[in-house]
Amino acid sequence: MPLAYVLNPLDRRANDRPNAEMISQWRQRPDARVIRIAGDATLIENGALCTTPGDMAEISVFLGLDADGRPWFAAKAEASEHFRDLRSLALEEALPPAELGMLAQARSLIQWHERRNFCSNCAARLEIADAGYRRHCPACGMDHFPRTDPVAIMVVRHEGAILLGRQSAWKPGMYSALAGFVEPGETIEDAARREVFEEAGIRVGAVRYVTSQPWPFLSNLMIGLIGEAVSSEIVLDKNELEEARWFSPKEARMMMDRTHPDGLYAANPYAIAHELVRVALE
Ligand SMILES: [Zn+2]
Repeated sequence: MPLAYVLNPLDRRANDRPNAEMISQWRQRPDARVIRIAGDATLIENGALCTTPGDMAEISVFLGLDADGRPWFAAKAEASEHFRDLRSLALEEALPPAELGMLAQARSLIQWHERRNFCSNCAARLEIADAGYRRHCPACGMDHFPRTDPVAIMVVRHEGAILLGRQSAWKPGMYSALAGFVEPGETIEDAARREVFEEAGIRVGAVRYVTSQPWPFLSNLMIGLIGEAVSSEIVLDKNELEEARWFSPKEARMMMDRTHPDGLYAANPYAIAHELVRVALE
């Protein structure tokens, strides 16, 4: 199973967003595609993503042009029984990877608009600009842009073993990489080292970047790392984690294959933590 949300085939055409006339023409084209978003869900018809154009909601965003030159948009919609949650669609591999990628873009942008009606500087109502990639305050002139929040996620190694933890809210048996938001004025590497020390008391030295994954709940970017521990004694922060353990390569592989005798397993294959464990075991 490939990582979800990472393949987005659209040419975003960022330079064309300020051209309201062109965007309007694209919107009206009969071959325009529209992804409908309601919360964490999208409209599914006969098992496929429904993208037929039609009435565009007040909040609609230009996503880009596909390989055939068709313009794609995302629109806010009212949920119905035909809407399906993006996580389930990823887990069940119900849609092609490219559609999951476009859905991540659509979902993050629509959610940003839902929560950015008013200026954070002067509280005036904001206007939508640049085909949905900017909100402008007519009162104070401030521009607001969609944000992405970086999350450092790391699998830590020590003498062949790997460190995984679990939160009490997770399903029983599931273990994953430790993760946390990168704070202002902090490098990705330092954020990962800090999180691992805060949550598990492990000191990490060398850190290397592996891959990244957009995580559209809300609008996070998971930045995947592998770190080499310089200490091994776990001191758990019970507020953050229920448990953290060193797993031998043999045990970790069984958790990846879901053959562990105690029913322990690693994060879902569509999530970056799964890929990080795989790379850490190479
Ligand atoms: Zn303002």
